[in-house]
Amino acid sequence: MCGVLGVFSAGREAAPLAALGLFALQHRGQESAGLAVSDGTGVMVYKDLGLVAQVLDDRRMPSLRGDRAIAHCRYSTTGSSVWENSQPAFRLGPRRTVALGHNGNLVNTRQLRDELDAGTGAMVGTSDTELLTALLAGEPAADLVEALARLLPRVKGAYSLVAMDETRVIGVRDPFGIRPLVLGRLPAEADGSHGWVLSSETCGLEVVGASFVRDVEPGEMVVLGEPGGPRSVRFAPGREQLCVFELIYFARPDSFMVGRNLYEVRRRMGEELATEAPVEADLVMPVPDTGSAAAAGYAERSGITYREGMVKNRYAGRTFIQPSQALRQRGVTVKLSPLPDQVRGRRLIVVDASIVRGTTTRRIVEMLRRAGAAEVHLRISAPPIHHPCFYGIDTQIERELIAARLDRAGIRDFVGADSLAYLSIGGVLDAIGLPRERFCFACFDGQYPVPVPYDAESHKWVLESRSEVPAGPPVAPVG
Ligand code: SF4
Repeated sequence: MCGVLGVFSAGREAAPLAALGLFALQHRGQESAGLAVSDGTGVMVYKDLGLVAQVLDDRRMPSLRGDRAIAHCRYSTTGSSVWENSQPAFRLGPRRTVALGHNGNLVNTRQLRDELDAGTGAMVGTSDTELLTALLAGEPAADLVEALARLLPRVKGAYSLVAMDETRVIGVRDPFGIRPLVLGRLPAEADGSHGWVLSSETCGLEVVGASFVRDVEPGEMVVLGEPGGPRSVRFAPGREQLCVFELIYFARPDSFMVGRNLYEVRRRMGEELATEAPVEADLVMPVPDTGSAAAAGYAERSGITYREGMVKNRYAGRTFIQPSQALRQRGVTVKLSPLPDQVRGRRLIVVDASIVRGTTTRRIVEMLRRAGAAEVHLRISAPPIHHPCFYGIDTQIERELIAARLDRAGIRDFVGADSLAYLSIGGVLDAIGLPRERFCFACFDGQYPVPVPYDAESHKWVLESRSEVPAGPPVAPVG
């Protein structure tokens, strides 16, 4: 995950817009937040562990001056959850200044680290973003755009980047476009000029009043801050294979991707699920909020009444994103409470978007049974997750994925449900209405668009052993 955002708005303060846009991307990462800003002469970075509103508060913003900015909220997939790994990463090198925010995960981190070791570079943190920043700072090139164009063909994996030096803000998407990145335009000022915004999702445009212009293309850089508006630079041929989990679960339901509103896509996934996996029941209810849209679709297609059966504490954070198993297990009870009068004596169809480890789902089923549910039929609006993700979702250890160890009946028994069914890959595609080649489905079918060349299980900590930075608490995969 991670959220990235960039703003260029000539002559007007960029930091307040960048902070507001980042706030809309908070769901993409809750470990740290930060912002780099430039007035054209120097880059200033402010970042810390914590939520966007905690880090970029009213006391900080007045000191962050300039008309260009990048911003980032972090969800770690390579490197510990420590301050040194918060972003934007920053280098004031002999060749150039670089600030960088990264959404994604690289798969040739070791080779790139060897390359850095062979030169004169040194790293501050232990994330793949720190590594990219150090390499960019040392790359022999006339400017940051050329440095990116020279470096990126050697970089393998998933990356949607926002980068900046003193004068330019640059958006980059990897050649497979695994993570999203969009370009938006701010309303015209009195002098007719426009500002521009780069964002992981369209919800980051909406909140600052920018209108969607287009996706940054796979293999493309969009350069802001030059006369004449955004400049497109292609650094590699592109063939989009967007992470389908962005549509199923990760991105905000009010965002648009591949020309579709994600609430509507998820609602249709629920309809497909009702067709594929019907069951007699009294009520359809979502696991809030991850199953809400799909549950609505399931109820519409099945004709079974939709009802809320659990209440979510909206201040508890996403279970998915909490950085340890112990916290995650506590988080479920903190986050969800049953509505006993709705649940008691009823046969329930409970809809959610995924089961990863199975522990969270098991606690939800236990909670509903304690509240008196007569039957609990689980319906998942995605296929089973059989394979790890190496492209920016923290599910890198295969043995921790319940569907990699157990068959459908085994999972049903583990979570304690009366029945369990998943939506098929075909059902997902029918709901989206686009061909399979447009998406990465690797965690479902094992077909990785970018080959993963080394031992997966050491991946997250690949840079820790060579670092001065103490490792933070381990960040366990999804619950
Ligand atoms: S492996 Fe799964 S989660 Fe990772 S990018 Fe592909 S579809 Fe998305």
